[in-house]
Amino acid sequence: MNIHEYQAKALLRSYGIPVSDGRVVLRAEEAKTAAAELDGPLWVVKAQIHAGGRGKGHFKEAEAGEKGGVRLARSTGEAAEFARQMLGRTLVTIQTGPAGKQVNRIYIEDGSDIDREFYLAFLIDRATSRISIVASTEGGMSIEDVAHDTPEKIHTFTIDPATGLQDFHGRRVAFALGLEGAQVKSCVAIIRNLYRMFTDKDMDMLEINPFCVLKDGSLKLLDAKMAFDGNAMYRHADIAALRDETEEDPKELAASKFDLNYIALDGEIGCMVNGAGLAMATMDIIKLYGAEPANFLDVGGGATKEKVTEAFKIITSDPQVKGILVNIFGGIMRCDIIAEGVIAAVKEVGLKVPLVVRLEGTNVELGKDIIRKSGLNVIAADDLKDGAEKIVKAVRG
Ligand code: GDP
Ligand code: MG
Repeated sequence: MNIHEYQAKALLRSYGIPVSDGRVVLRAEEAKTAAAELDGPLWVVKAQIHAGGRGKGHFKEAEAGEKGGVRLARSTGEAAEFARQMLGRTLVTIQTGPAGKQVNRIYIEDGSDIDREFYLAFLIDRATSRISIVASTEGGMSIEDVAHDTPEKIHTFTIDPATGLQDFHGRRVAFALGLEGAQVKSCVAIIRNLYRMFTDKDMDMLEINPFCVLKDGSLKLLDAKMAFDGNAMYRHADIAALRDETEEDPKELAASKFDLNYIALDGEIGCMVNGAGLAMATMDIIKLYGAEPANFLDVGGGATKEKVTEAFKIITSDPQVKGILVNIFGGIMRCDIIAEGVIAAVKEVGLKVPLVVRLEGTNVELGKDIIRKSGLNVIAADDLKDGAEKIVKAVRG
C-alpha cells in the first residue's frame, strides 16, 4: 500500500526526522492562507499523487509557461496561483504512464535552500532476505539512469537482522555521501530513526530523493515515497487510515474488498483460477501459446458463489479482456460453486467475449452439468493445455 508524500512526511516528523513545514490543500481557495502560515521567502507547491517524477512531469493540455507538478513560488500569491493551476488537472510523469493521474491534493511546503541532493532508500532485498540501504550522491535525478550509467555511484549496505541496525551503518552511509563533521552525527541519527520507522511500520520500500544538505549545512529530507506491506495492514490501523482509494486501480480495489488476490496486467486474456501456483501456471501456459494474461487472479480455496461472481465481474469490466479462461482444480473449492458464480455473473453483466472453462476435481460433473444446462456459450476444455490452446485460438484466431 502506498501513501502520499505529505502523509509520509508527517510520519517522518513523528520519528524526529527533519522535514520541511508544510500544509495540505484540497481546494484552491485554501491555498493562500496555507502558504501564509509558512515562513517563506520560498514556497514549494507539490502535486500529491502516488507517483514520482512529478518535477519533470507535465499536465495534460498544459498552457504556455506551465511546468510540472513541483514548482517554486516566491510569494504566497504565486504559491496559491500554482496550487489553483494544478488542482483537478491530470499530471503525466514517467511513473504514471501516459494516462496520468488526477491531482486532488496539493502540498505547500516552506522552501529550502539546497546545496546538494542525494538519493537514499531502504528496501527489502529479496535476494538476501534482508533490509538494504541504498545511497548515492547522485540524487534528484532518476536513480535508474544512475544505476545504468554509473553503477559505482550507488552504494548498498545490508543489515543483518540478528544485530539490527548499528551506528556504523549510518556512518558508512554518511561517508559514502561525503558528509563531514556534525553532518555525520546527524546522518547516523536519521538512518537510525528511518530504520526504526521502516521496521515498526512494516514497510516494503522507503525512497528519499532528494535527501539534501542545505546551504546552512543541515540535513533535510525533501521528498519521500513509502510503500507498506499490505499483508501487515491489519496491525497498523494508523497507516491503513492513510489509504487513498482514488489512487488505486479500481479493479484491484474491488478485488481487495472481496478478499480476492487480484493483480491487473497488460494482456488480453482474463484468468480466473484457484490457488496461486495454478494461477501462475495458467499465466505461463497462456504466454506459451502466444498470448498475454490480463490479470493474475486467485479466488482462493473456500470461495463462495458471491466471491466468484465478483471475481468474474472484475475480469469482464476490463476493456482489454478479449477472452476469459476459467481454470479450476477443485480440492477444497467445489466446481459447482464456481459454475454457479460464473453463471450469476454472466446473468448480471453479460458476456461479450469467448469463455473457456476447465473444471477438474470435487463435484466436477455437477459443475459441468450446471454450465451445460445454463445455455451459456461456453467452450469446455479437458485440461490446462487444452484450455490454454482453446482460449488463445478463440482470441487470436
Ligand atoms: P519528484 O519530481 O516527484 O521526485 O518530486 P521532488 O519532491 O523530488 O521534487 C523535485 C525537485 O524539486 C527536487 O529534486 C528539488 O530539486 C526540487 N525541490 C523540492 N523541494 C525543494 C525546496 O524546498 N527547495 C528547492 N530549492 N528545490 C526543491
Ligand atoms: Mg523526488
